[in-house]
Amino acid sequence: MKQLKYCWRCGTKLITRKYEGRQRYYCTRCEEFVYRNSVPVAGVFVVKDEEVLLIKRGGTPNKGLWSYPAGYLEYDEKPETGAVRELKEETGLKAPEKELKLVATIHLEHPDKYVVGNAYAVSSEHVDGEVRPGDDALDARFWEIEEMNDNIEQIESEKIVGAARKAIQLVKDSN
Ligand SMILES: [Zn+2]
Repeated sequence: MKQLKYCWRCGTKLITRKYEGRQRYYCTRCEEFVYRNSVPVAGVFVVKDEEVLLIKRGGTPNKGLWSYPAGYLEYDEKPETGAVRELKEETGLKAPEKELKLVATIHLEHPDKYVVGNAYAVSSEHVDGEVRPGDDALDARFWEIEEMNDNIEQIESEKIVGAARKAIQLVKDSN
């Protein structure tokens, strides 16, 4: 994990100080602790029968691995709004926010940060459009859970498989 060096506000070199039970970054010029938080992400599993739509990542990190369509939330964006925006950008599919069901939070470690994914599910019956990979996605197609397990080295994380399984169940239970 990359470390922070400078205060994001004033550029002063940071020191660390123990506070509230752990070593934290501190700026001696701002006289403030500089908190480092995980970064929120949102995405959608489109569920069709026993399959979920995955995208092949075109951006860093984990380029070339398969994951659920997801991306960083804008500063003022609700997770549901960001999830459908990312789905559209990466797969071309349009899903109504009101049809999203919260499936899981997916905590992943990236080289420079931890990300917390708000993962939703939507039935393909509620989705419009044709699948075409776009934005940072190199490819997009539906996967069965068994196929994901059999090719786990191509999947970004086992946590994606666990959430995909939950997404399929959730959509099935709501029908
Ligand atoms: Zn500062």
